[in-house]
Amino acid sequence: MDLQLKGKTAFVSGSTQGIGYAIAKQLLLEGAAVTINGRTEARVAEAVEKLKGHVPGAPVNGIAADFSKADDVRKLTEQLPGIDILVNNAGIFEPKPFTEITDEEWLRFFEVNVMSGIRLSRHYFPGMLEKNWGRIIFISSESAIMIPEEMIHYGTTKTAQLSISRGLALLTKNTGVTVNTIMPGPTKSEGVVEFIKQVAESKGITPQEAEKDFFKTMRPSSLLQRFADVAEIANMVTYIASPLSSATNGAALKAEGGLVNSIY
Ligand code: NAD
Repeated sequence: MDLQLKGKTAFVSGSTQGIGYAIAKQLLLEGAAVTINGRTEARVAEAVEKLKGHVPGAPVNGIAADFSKADDVRKLTEQLPGIDILVNNAGIFEPKPFTEITDEEWLRFFEVNVMSGIRLSRHYFPGMLEKNWGRIIFISSESAIMIPEEMIHYGTTKTAQLSISRGLALLTKNTGVTVNTIMPGPTKSEGVVEFIKQVAESKGITPQEAEKDFFKTMRPSSLLQRFADVAEIANMVTYIASPLSSATNGAALKAEGGLVNSIY
C-alpha cells in the first residue's frame, strides 16, 4: 500500500527516543520530510544521525525545544513556520502516590503533556485550514480512559488531550484537515524501561519481576499481555498521518493491546 506521504512535511514532538522516534522513522520510510525534536541540541543531533543511518538519504532535521517552556515553543515555530503533519507526542509519566503530587508537578505535567500540543496546534492549524490539507495527531494513552491509580496526574493530562483533539476536529468541518488521537497502551519505549525500574525499586523487586508483575497486577485486562513494540504504535500513527485516512476525523483510536474492556 502506498501511503502517499512523499513530499509531505511533518513535525514530531519528543522524538529523540521511544514512540516519537519510531513515528519519525516510519514517516521517513514512507517518504515524508521530518523535523524531529528533543530537549537538547546534542540529543537531537544524535537522533538525526541515527535516523539517517536507518533511512539513508532521508530528509530529516531537528530542532531542540523544551515543552515545559513556552518561549522554546515560540522559537521553534519561528524556525518552522508551516508543516503538513503535526504529531503531538512529547509526554512525561512517573508513578507517584496522589497525595505526594505537588502543585508544581501537576503544572509541569500540564505544560509538557497538554500545553505542548495546544501551543503547537494553535500555530500550525490555521495554515493547514488555509491549504485545505493537514493532519494533527495527539499521542494520548489508554490512561486517558482507564486512569491509572499510580499516576492520576498523568491520566488527567491524557484525558485533556482527548478534549482538545475532538474540539479541534469540530473546526475542520468540510475541509481536508483531520485531527485525531491515538491511545497507545503499555509500550516498550526507553521511558517505560525507566518507569519499570522505578516500580521495581518502590516494590523492592527486580525490573524483570516488575515487568511480569505489571501485567498480572497492574494491567490484568491486557489481551496482549506484553508491552507493544514502538513500531506497532508508529504504524497506526503513520496511516492516520497519511491521505488514505481521510474519512477518520475527530476519533480516539486505541492501540492498547485490548486492555480497555470496551467494544468501541
Ligand atoms: P519516552 O520517555 O521514551 O520518550 C519521550 C520523548 O519526549 C523523548 O524524546 C523526550 O526527549 C521527549 N520529551 C520529554 N519531555 C520533553 C520536554 N519537556 N520537551 C521536549 N521533549 C520532551 O516516552 P514514550 O514512552 O515514547 O512516550 C511518548 C508518548 O507516548 C507520551 O506522550 C506518552 O504519554 C505516550 N504513551 C506512552 C506509552 C508507553 O507505554 N510507552 C503508553 C501510552 C502513551
